[in-house]
Amino acid sequence: MVIRHTDDSHWQSVSVLNYKEEGHHFSRITRQVLYDGCPELPCQLRYFEIAVGGHSSLEHHEHVHLVFIVRGEGDVLVGNEVQRVSEKDLVTIPGNTWHQFQADRGVPLGFLCLVNVDRDRPSLPTEEDLESLRRDPRVAAFIKS
Ligand code: MN
Repeated sequence: MVIRHTDDSHWQSVSVLNYKEEGHHFSRITRQVLYDGCPELPCQLRYFEIAVGGHSSLEHHEHVHLVFIVRGEGDVLVGNEVQRVSEKDLVTIPGNTWHQFQADRGVPLGFLCLVNVDRDRPSLPTEEDLESLRRDPRVAAFIKS
């Protein structure tokens, strides 16, 4: 079975969805579910695209993300490390680790993200968490919440 790429990071019969149902802790990001799991392979493969200047939410959760960059470049916070990422880089985000993606290099950032179908909901930072994260100057300069 082939889900054909049509143009410009869109796929046949795949809807472009809101990144999350609600909230203002993210900006300029869309979601497309390319694979929605089956009992033998209970995972989802999503394509996210962050437009120039946008970002995903700063969050953590128990489940793990495997992220493969397929378009453009940007930066990612994983734990207390900020790193530049670009096409074909693979990023593993372990469980219970703060993370955020940003398209902060003048081009969109598109990536595939693999997750378990059965997963916990993300937690957003409390004021206390933010205070603690901001103790690291590089993290402080990077995060948007
Ligand atoms: Mn996440």
